[in-house]
Amino acid sequence: MKVLSKAKLEEALNKLSEANEVFVPMQKKAQSGYFPWNSFVSGQDELMLEALNVYQSPKGAVLPQTEKMYRYQQGGMEINIEETFEDSHPTIIFGARACDVKGILAMDEVFLTRGYEDSFYKARRSGNTIIANACYEPGPNCFCNAMEVDCVNPAGTDVILRDGGDAYVWEVKSEKGEAVTAVIAGLLEEKEVSLPQLKPFVQKVDYSGVAEKLKTMFEHPLWDKLSEPCVNCGMCTFVCPSCYCFDIQVKMWGDEGYRFRAWDSCMFEEYSREAGGGNPRGASKERFRQRFLHKLEFFTERYGTPLCTGCGRCMIVCPTDINIVRIIDAVKEAEVND
Ligand code: SF4
Ligand code: SF4
Repeated sequence: MKVLSKAKLEEALNKLSEANEVFVPMQKKAQSGYFPWNSFVSGQDELMLEALNVYQSPKGAVLPQTEKMYRYQQGGMEINIEETFEDSHPTIIFGARACDVKGILAMDEVFLTRGYEDSFYKARRSGNTIIANACYEPGPNCFCNAMEVDCVNPAGTDVILRDGGDAYVWEVKSEKGEAVTAVIAGLLEEKEVSLPQLKPFVQKVDYSGVAEKLKTMFEHPLWDKLSEPCVNCGMCTFVCPSCYCFDIQVKMWGDEGYRFRAWDSCMFEEYSREAGGGNPRGASKERFRQRFLHKLEFFTERYGTPLCTGCGRCMIVCPTDINIVRIIDAVKEAEVND
């Protein structure tokens, strides 16, 4: 089998970075997330390939936190749209876990299918290659196995890395994978490596029947109780690998400016406030319910798979200990009128 020795990892990242922006999980001071490899400061930053999930998922590589859309200039009644900023520069997400890859596949459905294409997303995604890192030891908050994710053989990847001790097995899965493999071919070796067995999941989650049951639970009193501790801070949505909502804003000076989009959160009151002042989700409970129905019911109805990938991040960052696993359990146990 083809392997990349861990001793040659930095050399491989340097080579891949010659023609690509390579996003790698790392710790940078207080932040952990996917950052460009060429921003890595030796002795200060820490590579986090061994960690299961850094706080920020790699979704920013295909849906940046802020992204310019076009520039404009007004002159009287005339408006001149000068430029679009569709960006197809080649990027590699290196070391993504299966749950995060599933998050990107969910965004592919939203932004590229059903007769609608988001040209900004399409441009970034077309230049993007995913090198996944197979998981063999799920963490205490992982439940991807319950959310249709195969953590050992993730779908939708271009290369899969498998941690075999002092080397990564390098498994090519697509043409894009072959192209990046060619770049580092001189660093790969043929070697037999033994791989670990998948350890059991600590979280036991049963999502079966939840999407169906939720159809009958829009007005269920359980939402009052479950949503009570939520302070609508939006942390859960920003760390989530599959939350994709954005707002479009304008930056202007005089008669010119540009429009840009930025991540938004359904947990915020302004998110659903209408121009006339009305708000269909003005109450905290309504926003909370929307988030979980979108994750566990609406997306499954539309795309046939849940919008939660079981990464566990929202359970870790929530300041009030709201836990999607307990919400799934509560839905399973709830009494409903037939
Ligand atoms: S992180 Fe917790 S408190 Fe904050 S919006 Fe999400 S569920 Fe609510
Ligand atoms: S809802 Fe929570 S557990 Fe599910 S994918 Fe988002 S952050 Fe991960």
